[in-house]
Amino acid sequence: MKEYRFDTVILGGGPAGMSAGIYAGRGAVSTAIIDISMFGGQPSNYLELENYPGYLETDAFGLTEKFEEHADKFGVRKFPAQEIEKIDLVGVPKVILTKEARFEAKTVIIATGAHAKKLGVPGENEFSGRGVSYCAVCDGAFYKDKVVAVIGGGNSAVEEAAYLTRFASKVYIVHRRGELRADKILQSRAFGNDKIEFIMDTVVKEITGSNLVEGITLENIKTGAVTNLAVDGVFMYIGFTPNVDSFNGQVEQDVNGFIVTDTTMKTSVDGVFAVGDVRTTPLRQVITAVSDGAVGAVHAVKYLEALHDVAQAV
Ligand code: NAP
Repeated sequence: MKEYRFDTVILGGGPAGMSAGIYAGRGAVSTAIIDISMFGGQPSNYLELENYPGYLETDAFGLTEKFEEHADKFGVRKFPAQEIEKIDLVGVPKVILTKEARFEAKTVIIATGAHAKKLGVPGENEFSGRGVSYCAVCDGAFYKDKVVAVIGGGNSAVEEAAYLTRFASKVYIVHRRGELRADKILQSRAFGNDKIEFIMDTVVKEITGSNLVEGITLENIKTGAVTNLAVDGVFMYIGFTPNVDSFNGQVEQDVNGFIVTDTTMKTSVDGVFAVGDVRTTPLRQVITAVSDGAVGAVHAVKYLEALHDVAQAV
């Protein structure tokens, strides 16, 4: 098994992790980014970004590739496809054991992001990959001239519903309340889209079909009326859960599992920082993720400098 020692190991190579890598690398500390799969994080699944300052419109994947190139420029070592088996964030040094290697680090920056939540209704698991999807960009093209439902009322649901109208003949947005959570600009675009129809105050009780999804059972929470809606696909966009499985409980987390940090991105454990979607934050965007990465890495470098001072004084 290979063994590595770094000043900073960053867990996760999405926008937050790459940005942390750029700042740590530029801060002249030895830095590695490890990721469970390929680099890029969640934006690799988005089609385009139109709210990243300076880019009126950019393909999200291209932007994450630029982040990666930028980290390369500052000598950051990258380790993709590293499945974490064991991690000790509390000890000195911090130790990360993956299937391929053992990493030791003086500081760890957690940038593991978050993943799509499941609705937890009958049929969801059974039809996953056979009509139930969590990624419109990945699966939308399979629904040419078909009817799909998007579940949720946030930015993702409304944006992805609009994306799905490129393929589907009809897109229902099913939302549990009478008001959408999505930004007003996205709402007004969706209201103006002939292919989108909203089903409000409604929850999904079941996803039905035989081999593939054929419909969803809906309940209007105001009237109690139960109806069946014929659809060929269901796209879930009901929010995200933090990716914390490998180190759950080692740092302070909120009730939903997101990591609690201070304004310098420091966690409850000395030398451990958390940045991006994995932490408790009011906004989860590429811009906030890269901002977190910068703040976290700068303070990780300061932490390392303080360690060095202590080492000199001894
Ligand atoms: P979100 O903002 O948390 O919205 C989740 C939606 O799903 C809410 O409408 C919520 O309903 C609904 N929901 C949650 N649990 C549910 C359940 N069990 N059953 C039925 N409905 C449920 O999540 P998101 O839309 O994925 O966005 C995540 C973050 O990314 C946000 O900060 C968002 O602004 C950001 N984002 C931004 C953009 C952009 O700016 N272009 C695009 C995508 C995402 P309630 O409204 O009733 O709570």
